[in-house]
Amino acid sequence: MNPIYAAMGTTIFEAMSARARASGAVNLGQGFPDGTGPEAVLHTAAEALTQRSNQYPPMIGIPELREAVADHYARHQGLNLTAEEVVVTSGATEALAAALLALITPGDEVLCFQPLYDAYVPLIERAGGVPRFVRLEPPEWRITAEALEAAVTERTRLVLFNNPLNPAATMASAGELALLADFCVSHDLIAVCDEVWEHVTFDGARHLPLIGFPGMRERTVKIGSAGKIFALTGWKVGWMCAAPQLLRGLAKAHQFLTFTTPPNLQWAVAHGLNTQDDWVQRASAGFQRSRDRLKNGLETLGLVTLPSAATYFLSIDLTASGIDEGDVDFCNRLLDEAGVAAIPVSAFYAQDAVTNVVRLCFAKADETLDAALERMARLR
Ligand code: PMP
Ligand code: GLN
Repeated sequence: MNPIYAAMGTTIFEAMSARARASGAVNLGQGFPDGTGPEAVLHTAAEALTQRSNQYPPMIGIPELREAVADHYARHQGLNLTAEEVVVTSGATEALAAALLALITPGDEVLCFQPLYDAYVPLIERAGGVPRFVRLEPPEWRITAEALEAAVTERTRLVLFNNPLNPAATMASAGELALLADFCVSHDLIAVCDEVWEHVTFDGARHLPLIGFPGMRERTVKIGSAGKIFALTGWKVGWMCAAPQLLRGLAKAHQFLTFTTPPNLQWAVAHGLNTQDDWVQRASAGFQRSRDRLKNGLETLGLVTLPSAATYFLSIDLTASGIDEGDVDFCNRLLDEAGVAAIPVSAFYAQDAVTNVVRLCFAKADETLDAALERMARLR
């Protein structure tokens, strides 16, 4: 076995969900919503399954979905992408793998930010890259010019950037994005932007895509996921958008990863992007209410939370809550003694981990959140 996998455990999300299933715990660990997604999208998928072709669709995605993605970003983010600049993938995870495989030459350094999604480091390393970390810290998780400059070398080839950031639940400010764009331009770096959480934003804040910043149009890969937009995480329909000369290599990597994505799901996502803007907006408003419900409940229990501006995650600051215990121990005790699954944020660090923050998923029915809070009350 490749040593990267030999040394690796099961992803924290699967591990925690398996423990939650086995013990009947309330699962606020792995990030997936309780809801069922928009009716019209489900209906289109079901109809396409029986009434349209189920054979291989085009390798880069059905034209209708590629067009719908480009239109969606024109409408919501003012971008001028064309359908030719979109390749459909089997989830954002596949897009990340294709981008990293296509862009990294062994020995290249990849600048990434900690905390990071746990798939990033194995994907970078398997592509022959060397991760270089910029460490972000609570409560602000801010990016600074000094930290960027300290991490860059002559071997740095690309920046892997997740915004909004899971698990920090932050959105980069316009100033941070301008800083990052200048940095990429001045060091001639490509940016791979994982923007799967772009529509799960709160309190009126709008997501700004890095590809829209000066100098970034030709050097950015923008990655999105229908699983997040329509609360259908199991569908694994995603995409990558980039200027043609950049996208060409990514499409070649994609053709030998999955080649394609189920056609009925592509039809359904195209329909959703074209018709469900209201649903997406309502979903975010619903997530915001759930965030506030969980936050208020945790505060009543004397637990201090960090701000959550985006994603469907809210974190407990253990230190500020007077809990003198590491995040892993706290999560184990929370699961074993109270029957609630959560994710220790140290799982999102490859080195120098922040160990006093615990992530909870609030994209759940009110009763589920209330049940979790009731159980958590037993802990203290
Ligand atoms: N990137 C980030 C930051 C995520 O949080 C997730 C899933 N929650 C993914 C990628 C994976 O997206 P997909 O399920 O579309 O592969
Ligand atoms: N991205 C989801 C989370 O952060 C989990 C995805 C997965 O389980 N692979 O919880």
